[in-house]
Amino acid sequence: MDTQIYKRSAVFFFRFIHNWILKKVFSISLEITHSCNCNCTHCDKGGPIPDEKLASPEKFGQITRELNPLVTQISGGDPFFRKDLYQIVKNVKLNKYYPYMVLVTNGWLFSEEKYKTLKSMGVDEFSVSLDFPDERHDENRGISGLYQHLNNLIPEITRYGNRDITIISVIRNQTLPELIRLAEKANEWGASIVFSAYTPLRTNDFDEAPLQPDQLEFLHQQLNYIKNNRHNFRIYTSDSVLDGYYNFFTNGCHIPGCRAGYLSLVVNPDGKLVPCAMQSVSFDTREELIRQFSRTNDCGGCYVSLRANTERTLGKTVKEVISYFYQTKYKTSA
Ligand code: SF4
Ligand code: SF4
Repeated sequence: MDTQIYKRSAVFFFRFIHNWILKKVFSISLEITHSCNCNCTHCDKGGPIPDEKLASPEKFGQITRELNPLVTQISGGDPFFRKDLYQIVKNVKLNKYYPYMVLVTNGWLFSEEKYKTLKSMGVDEFSVSLDFPDERHDENRGISGLYQHLNNLIPEITRYGNRDITIISVIRNQTLPELIRLAEKANEWGASIVFSAYTPLRTNDFDEAPLQPDQLEFLHQQLNYIKNNRHNFRIYTSDSVLDGYYNFFTNGCHIPGCRAGYLSLVVNPDGKLVPCAMQSVSFDTREELIRQFSRTNDCGGCYVSLRANTERTLGKTVKEVISYFYQTKYKTSA
């Protein structure tokens, strides 16, 4: 294990304990724009937003300093829509070790040059969406040629050997038969994969949620296969989170006990704080958000990756974070 990884793991672990004791937020998602070049069938966003009110890079830096999270996602819409993206990254990366920074993109405006620049500025991980392991991805995203672009680009980037490209795929009825092939595709590209659970809250489309007995049985089989064969891939979604997804759908798209605001929150393009991407109430401070939303929140309508990962128990989180660092840096993919 090299010294850098020791240091990084130690800082991450102590900051985790620090945030746990001081009841600070673990993870924030900076949605720096809601403009997007895709128009995905499972999302409420799509297309450019004229005259969108945008907070400055300095404002995003200030918010990150005040909230002091372990993990910061830079997302959207698509973050590459912002011409000042590099400035935002510079302001948000507080020092060499934290926050652990993840850039989430559909990949259409991503390139090897941008990867190198963002990497040198401290982005730790790049999360690229993939719905299908072939051209059906273009149809779902509304961009012709997107799949082929990723098919060329991702292997170009993973050849650097930094193990920092993660494919993210949403589990829903249309993608259920593809989960294994998606993991295989990520492997073929030299990337890892995480799964998230579909929520009907974005589009109000319940047809995409596996709620019928035969769909739930199929989901169960697929998840079991993943759990039993995870050693063949780099799948970062832990067994406990996969079980959580299954429980969410079995329970009719509901899991009580949401901790949005306490453990995670989202920052809108204008710099206002919202509990999550599905809620429209916004606040100036986290204290206000907790007081006016989190304390009485009884919504359980999503179990997206951000929620599922931050709501694990302390013991599970420590165990799974250690396993994550091990897999990220050391495990040789099959
Ligand atoms: S899922 Fe992502 S890429 Fe697709 S429309 Fe929504 S924000 Fe854009
Ligand atoms: S369960 Fe929590 S994170 Fe999910 S939509 Fe409801 S408030 Fe947001």
